[in-house]
Amino acid sequence: MRLSRYFLPVLKENPAEAQIVSHRYMLRAGMIKQQAAGIYSWLPLGYRVLKRIEQIVHEEQVRAGHIPLLMPTLQPADLWRESGRYDDYGQEMLRIKDRQDREMLYGPTNEEMITDIFRAHVSSYKDLPLTLYHIQWKFRDEMRPRFGVMRGREFLMKDGYNFDVDRASALHAYNRHMVSYLRTYERMGLTAIPMRADSGPIGGDDTHEFLVLAATGESEVFFDSAVTELKLGNRAVDYDNRDEVAGVCKEFTTLYARTDETHDEALFNAIPEERRKVARGIEVGQIFYFGTKYSEAMGATVVTADGSKVPVEMGSHGIGVSRLLGAIIEASHDDKGIIWPEGVTPFPVGIVNLKQGDGAADAACEGLYKALAAKGLEALYDDRDERAGAKFATMDLIGLPWRITVGPRGLANGVVEVTSRRTGVSEEMSPEAAVDRIAQIYAEI
Ligand code: ATP
Ligand code: MG
Repeated sequence: MRLSRYFLPVLKENPAEAQIVSHRYMLRAGMIKQQAAGIYSWLPLGYRVLKRIEQIVHEEQVRAGHIPLLMPTLQPADLWRESGRYDDYGQEMLRIKDRQDREMLYGPTNEEMITDIFRAHVSSYKDLPLTLYHIQWKFRDEMRPRFGVMRGREFLMKDGYNFDVDRASALHAYNRHMVSYLRTYERMGLTAIPMRADSGPIGGDDTHEFLVLAATGESEVFFDSAVTELKLGNRAVDYDNRDEVAGVCKEFTTLYARTDETHDEALFNAIPEERRKVARGIEVGQIFYFGTKYSEAMGATVVTADGSKVPVEMGSHGIGVSRLLGAIIEASHDDKGIIWPEGVTPFPVGIVNLKQGDGAADAACEGLYKALAAKGLEALYDDRDERAGAKFATMDLIGLPWRITVGPRGLANGVVEVTSRRTGVSEEMSPEAAVDRIAQIYAEI
């Protein structure tokens, strides 16, 4: 993409309404525009990151054996009357009437609808296990929408639902989700810690929230600092192997890590003092095993191998796709702007032409742009007729992890400069070597 032809409405001033750094940088970098409280347009740069995050979520869900579909945003109220939640949900639910005076709602989540789909088409244990998910906009009329996309009213969520014949299979689905989430967040450059959370009236240790540590997080969290060292990495996990998957979950959930809802002072104090941490975190996902709560209420049953008819075992599992943009920026920025991890960056690399209109500089930039494209890497080429300082400031603000700087002086010596946004370290090399370097970095992620 050539910046002269792109739509990147960068703001020079700090927007007064933004209280936290991620909101400020998303507005300044021209990623989002507020249209109403908690409702945003996704401008091209923000949209690219959103799509990138969605892509990673999809890839990891499919890898775990889960199946994508798409349910609508608008739902009939009657489905929610079946579960009893139409009355329970309260003012967070946006209720609408159509021209026939039928009651509808903008979905805050989809347990009822997915159960309706299941009961219409599945009746035998032979069709199980089954996990269906979608990535769809949700609406919750939050009392205090704030912090930009972190607590929106309209927000994008991945929500998945497992259907299993018995509790043991449903717990395997729960564990599969935990492992796939760990990999999802790691690919986004995040450390998201699974923490035991409150499962409400159902009880047991059957829900975990995934938290990214950040001073601006809304949740208070308590953990053993050793938990932050755990990494899934590139290890191959066989998602069909119950013991193996359970083993990974055990590794990540044995050390103490809890939200304030389930915090236990005595257990916490048993951790060696230097490892005892109290901090704040951003909830970027939650997994939940709830058994037959919805299947019983809505009559979703399956016939088992011995011929008996039982309500299907279920769980639901969410990732805050749009919130993740805010969480990643909170975890990765400096005083000049965003620092995107390679996994989610809107463009893999920026090209800065220090002297637009100089024949050699223009030709070298064009050459780099095309050579990168030939390797599947779409650079953002700053080809505007601007001062070098302004070009650097824009690149730093929008946070591309790598920058190639091209100027007549370097070219006279046959070199361009490759700079890491994270470390600020620059290295001179030939344009060919620069292309190879960037290609190598992205081949490894
Ligand atoms: P919270 O406690 O932050 O209100 P929740 O527990 O009600 O969230 P879930 O029902 O668990 O949310 O939804 C799954 C995920 O969707 C959450 O982990 C979070 O990342 C995201 N999410 C929930 N509410 C919002 C919101 N208002 N704006 C953006 N993302 C949200
Ligand atoms: Mg939650």
